[in-house]
Amino acid sequence: MTAFYRQSGSMMSDRKSLSSLADEFGTPLYVYNRGAIEHAWQEFETALQGHRHLICYAVKANSNLAILNILARLGSGFDIVSVGELRRVLAAGGQADRIVFSGVGKSAAEMAAGLEAGIRCFNVESDAELDRLAEVAAAHGVVAPVSLRINPDVDAQTHPYISTGLKENKFGIGMSHAMDSYRRGAEHASLAIKGIDCHIGSQLTRLSPYADAVALLIDMVDRLADEGIRLSHLDVGGGQGIAYSEDEASLDIGAWADCVIQGIGDRDLEIMVEPGRYVVGQAGVLLTRVEYLKNNEDRHFAVVDAAMNDLIRPALYSAWQAIEEVETLPRESQVYDVVGPICESADFLGKQRSLAIAQDDLLCVRSAGAYAAVMSSNYNTRARAAEVMVDGDDAHLVRARENIEDLFANEYLLP
Ligand SMILES: *Cc1c(COP(=O)(O)O)cnc(C)c1O
Repeated sequence: MTAFYRQSGSMMSDRKSLSSLADEFGTPLYVYNRGAIEHAWQEFETALQGHRHLICYAVKANSNLAILNILARLGSGFDIVSVGELRRVLAAGGQADRIVFSGVGKSAAEMAAGLEAGIRCFNVESDAELDRLAEVAAAHGVVAPVSLRINPDVDAQTHPYISTGLKENKFGIGMSHAMDSYRRGAEHASLAIKGIDCHIGSQLTRLSPYADAVALLIDMVDRLADEGIRLSHLDVGGGQGIAYSEDEASLDIGAWADCVIQGIGDRDLEIMVEPGRYVVGQAGVLLTRVEYLKNNEDRHFAVVDAAMNDLIRPALYSAWQAIEEVETLPRESQVYDVVGPICESADFLGKQRSLAIAQDDLLCVRSAGAYAAVMSSNYNTRARAAEVMVDGDDAHLVRARENIEDLFANEYLLP
């Protein structure tokens, strides 16, 4: 499904032209497409049909309330990493008993909030966290449902910053220690050991790391069963990759599901999955307007009104995202570095892009639904962009552009 397509030279989403959205809501502007989000989520639902499962959308990929609400209406679960995300999911109509709580540094207050809400499971990442959760649950007079996040030490073959399943990463419990952690957890009366999970990295486009991880986890499930510790779910994490460029291919979700189901065999385990990027990544674009074209020696720059504070992926991970003209206009084509107004050399959206543009033209940065708006900041006292959701004939404002005065409203002058 292509959420953003060209018709008679104009970029469209459903029946809205992106130019009309830029005129109505201003730039920089994030534009999302409801159908694309639903379609990507349904791919998991279809692929896992016939096996007990729960899709827990990884909220950190894009936590806009409208997106969470769209997924809650489909019956989605959610994977959260903070009490803030818990509050968002509940505010958006998500069900507490479909929430799993991930993250390496949960505070006691966050654990208490999760227990009070009645979430499905805590994905625990260390012995110290296990002990703290047991204490917090005991103090609340409840039993905390627990899964242990195992670090299976498999190479996700992705960018080092988004690879999480290697021994050197801070995430999860090492394979050699995991059995002991389960035994420790089983001894706490205020913990109920429910499952096993892993999350080996993000933007994975091959099946083999998943197959390897599932095989290692299943082996542990069997060894635990031999000791009388019976698990009811296997959570394979997220990480399903999308195609940022035309010469990449996204992960095939049908093949991915087959691989997980095959790994589980006839064991009675519910499958949980925590996709983030795959659900929203291709369902969003960032619209930006060209402020100036300039040349330094033989380098050409398109200075646009979006910057690294709006979209940090290129600066942070050297991520490549397609950049296109929103309208096809009679312009001379030139190779540009597309840069923002921020005082940092890392402030670019793309380098060496062939574009036919003039001042005031609109550009569209594709694949900007995931890890984009959520990672935006106010650096250089720039107000965060507005966000809009296209749904057929309609475009709904789902986040208003920030107001500059609000950016320093919590700051104080000395007396
Ligand atoms: C970030 C994260 C996800 C989602 O990763 P994607 O690559 O966006 O699918 C899932 N689970 C955990 C524990 C995460 O930290």
